[in-house]
Amino acid sequence: MDRDYLVRATALDERVRAFALNATGVVSELRRRHDTYPAVTAALGRTAMGALLISAATLKEEEQLLTVDVKGGGPAGRIVVTANGRGEVRGLVGNPHAHAESVNGKLNVSGVVGSKGFLSVTKHLGMKDSYQGTVELLSGEIGDDLAYYLLQSEQTPSAVGVGVFVQPDHSVEAAGGYMIQLLPGLSETEIAAIEQRIADLPHPTQLLRDGATPEEILERIFPEGYTLGDSSPIRFHCPCSRERFESAIVSLGHDEVQRIIEEEEEPFTEVVCHFCNESYQFSPVEMEAILEAAR
Ligand SMILES: [Zn+2]
Repeated sequence: MDRDYLVRATALDERVRAFALNATGVVSELRRRHDTYPAVTAALGRTAMGALLISAATLKEEEQLLTVDVKGGGPAGRIVVTANGRGEVRGLVGNPHAHAESVNGKLNVSGVVGSKGFLSVTKHLGMKDSYQGTVELLSGEIGDDLAYYLLQSEQTPSAVGVGVFVQPDHSVEAAGGYMIQLLPGLSETEIAAIEQRIADLPHPTQLLRDGATPEEILERIFPEGYTLGDSSPIRFHCPCSRERFESAIVSLGHDEVQRIIEEEEEPFTEVVCHFCNESYQFSPVEMEAILEAAR
C-alpha cells in the first residue's frame, strides 16, 4: 500500500496545476470489498481516482468532503464515491458483477457505466456550505466526463487521465493517473504543446507497470521542468461504525424498530454498509436497549 500517494505540482510559472497519483492499493481494496468484475473495477477505480484528484485540487481542510455520483444507465448501475481532505476515499456500485465485452483488448468501461446520463460532483465544504455541479456524460469512460465537468462547472480546462489495469485473475495490477489544469495566461502555443504531450503519453497504467512514479508521469508531460509541491498519502477508508448504525436505529423510531424485531426471522438483524460491505449485527435485546438509552 505504500506506493499509493498523490503529488501536487505546478508548471509554466504556476499557469498550470498538475496532480498525479498511484492508487493501486486503493483500487485493489475497492475491488476486494465489493467483489467487482473487471470492467466495473475499472469504472469504480477511475471514479475513485477522479474524486481524489479533484479533492486534492479543491478541498482546503481535512474534514471537507467531495462526492462524485455517476448515473449512466448501464448495467453497473449507479456509482457513488466520496473522498475527503485527508485523502480517504470509499465508493459503491449498484451491480458489482456487471460485464461488457472488452473492446480491442481493453476493458469496456462505458459499456458497464452507460453513456447516457449524468455525472454530479458535490462539495461539502463546511456546516452549510455545499456546492453541486452536474453535467451530462460525454462518453461514460469517466476521465473525459470528469474533464468535461471541470470545464463546464468549474470553468477550468483540464485533462484527466485515469486508468486501471486488471489481471486475468481479476486482481488489480496497476491503477493511477493524472489531472492537468490550465489556468489563465497560457498562450495558444503553450496549450498546444501540453495537449500534444498528453496525446503522446502512454496510458497511465502502462507507465505505472513500467515502474514510473507519479512524479515521473508529470516529468513526461513537463520535460522542461515543473515545481513539485506537497505529496500526500491516499487510502481506502470508510467512517462507518457500530455507533453510527446505533444512531440510525434510534432515528427509525420505536414503532419501526418493533416491527423489524417482530418480522426478523434470524436471531440477529444484520445491517450492511453499502460503502465498505462491513456488516453489523444487532439482537432484539440490543436494539431495544439502544432505543431505551436514547429516550
Ligand atoms: Zn462502511
